[in-house]
Amino acid sequence: MKNHDCIFCKIINKEIPSKVIFENEYLLVIEDISPKAPVHYLVMPKKHIINLMHIEESDSQIMWELLREVKKLSQDLDDPKAFNLISNNGEGAGQSVNHFHFHFLAGKNLYGGDFKL
Ligand code: AMP
Ligand code: ZN
Repeated sequence: MKNHDCIFCKIINKEIPSKVIFENEYLLVIEDISPKAPVHYLVMPKKHIINLMHIEESDSQIMWELLREVKKLSQDLDDPKAFNLISNNGEGAGQSVNHFHFHFLAGKNLYGGDFKL
């Protein structure tokens, strides 16, 4: 289940500190260490799944829990309730941590600024 070389598995196991926003048996939400927007959370499954290319039908509950949490996070936003949800899949797409995660970004229009995730 866990990958001992994975920084996000270490964060999930509390071997590395992080700012935890929410946690349950399926998932962890933390603040990104290098935020690109006023709200920049990482929403990740506790199970070590490399990226969406590695997702299985047996992960459907996990995926639902992640999306339900995204919906909950959006409800807690100040107005305007708007956000970007990004996942980089593969090194060529900018994925730097090989443990699946959504970037949840709000408070800044992702397309209004010139930044890369
Ligand atoms: P990606 O490049 O899509 O794989 O996203 C990885 C994200 O993880 C980047 O936005 C990093 O800023 C973030 N990150 C890396 N290390 C940490 C850490 N220790 N705590 C919180 N966020 C991190
Ligand atoms: Zn991992």
